[in-house]
Amino acid sequence: MRVSLRSPMPGFHKELFDIVDVFMGPVTRLEGEDDAADLRVTLAQRQEGSLRVCEASLSGRFKASAQARQAVYGDALLIKRLHKRQLKLALFDALVEATGIRPPWGALTGIRPTRLILDAMGEGLPLDQAAAQVQDIFRISDEKTGLLKEIIAVQQGLPQAGANEIACYIGIPFCASRCRYCSFISREAGDGRQLSAYVPALIKEIAGTIALMRARGLTARSVYIGGGTPTVLDEQQLCQVLEAARPLFEQALEVTVEAGRPDTITRGKLRAIAASGAGRISVNPQSVHDATLRAVGRDHTWSQTLAAFHQAREAGIPHINMDLIAGLPGEDPAMFAHSLSQVLALSPEALTVHTLSIKRSSDMRRYGDSLPSGQQVEQMVSLARARAAQRGFAPYYIYRQKHMAGNLENVGYAKPGFVCLYNLDMMEDQTTVLAMGAGAVSKLVYPGRKCILRAPNVKDIAHYIARVGEMLERKHALFEGVGKGVRAPMEEAEDSED
Ligand code: SF4
Repeated sequence: MRVSLRSPMPGFHKELFDIVDVFMGPVTRLEGEDDAADLRVTLAQRQEGSLRVCEASLSGRFKASAQARQAVYGDALLIKRLHKRQLKLALFDALVEATGIRPPWGALTGIRPTRLILDAMGEGLPLDQAAAQVQDIFRISDEKTGLLKEIIAVQQGLPQAGANEIACYIGIPFCASRCRYCSFISREAGDGRQLSAYVPALIKEIAGTIALMRARGLTARSVYIGGGTPTVLDEQQLCQVLEAARPLFEQALEVTVEAGRPDTITRGKLRAIAASGAGRISVNPQSVHDATLRAVGRDHTWSQTLAAFHQAREAGIPHINMDLIAGLPGEDPAMFAHSLSQVLALSPEALTVHTLSIKRSSDMRRYGDSLPSGQQVEQMVSLARARAAQRGFAPYYIYRQKHMAGNLENVGYAKPGFVCLYNLDMMEDQTTVLAMGAGAVSKLVYPGRKCILRAPNVKDIAHYIARVGEMLERKHALFEGVGKGVRAPMEEAEDSED
């Protein structure tokens, strides 16, 4: 669908189009007035005393209008945030009226839906009141509000990071084959030549980061080796990386090695992981249906996942997470339910349920009619929550992405004592993260999240290998403040929560 958008605030158009996507799926975005558009959106505003009135009008295939009224107050940043929110709410209400659709997450398009409730709690509100306030503003459903409350309650019972404790990430952006839905920078390992050059560069960055942490008195509370698929490394390379990172493991409460693709897992690699002190791995079926796995470009089968899971148990790995995706092409709720049953029957310690994210309308066309509807995906996600609860799992972290099937969410579930602290540290932006590897992003979080500085590593793998020393300089610069002669683009992280 082609949608045109005219408003007095072109700087907010990206977020306003995101609201349109919630109702229509990924649309073709047209700036300004366009008579040929299927849907034309016009936003206008005026002042009435101390109130700013924003009005959204729809014409074309849908017709409706709605207003949002807001007192103008606060500092410049707050006024800007409230202004954007007000325009989004006017547009949201007009779209609800025009389509009759009530999206479960309401007008909330940010990736961290717990953040707003936590911020309200930071102002002194108890959880129930803070959740009710956010629900009311953003028109969130009772079910999703309940999910957020449950997650925050679990998180409040977990150990908080100390002042000198950070999270560490080590990235291996290579995979055995590329999944069709992949949005990461990961590439196929191919003949392994680039991977062979990548490992020494990564080890150099790990050693430099450990030295930086020692100099600053920092310790790792969680370490996550992710990707890509770290187990795409051969046994010798994997041992080299684990050995280089071992000083981090010795300090950490938790070490995860992502072993997502079961076709890359061997008994030798699992033994090396267990011997290194890493206690958590992730083995990711995504679906137990081999036809689905073939359709999305995952060159493995459910029986390989089963074998990998049992081998990991034999190797003595105590904490196994398994990922499923709701909304895969060709799957209906019954197929997803079957995947869920098979995975839960293995009794992993943690389960992560993602919903498929499709970035562009062109990708949507590629899948044709094979994608389940938003309602079907909602059924899958609800079923996962119910079945996980029956098996003693509690939801402990959540994040959302743009363009998710059914505009839903990704949720991590864990049995008591098996949450992944790294996932929390990453998602809630409460903890400094030092990240190593191509495309990895380090973040320095000031107490109370007053300011977050970022230092991204280059994404291009050849550049990363050639410029790894500069990646270390960027990390040092994080702790020295902005603009001290480093080339790294460091900026204050933008919180696009609302
Ligand atoms: S395994 Fe993950 S990182 Fe690798 S191609 Fe698939 S989605 Fe991307």
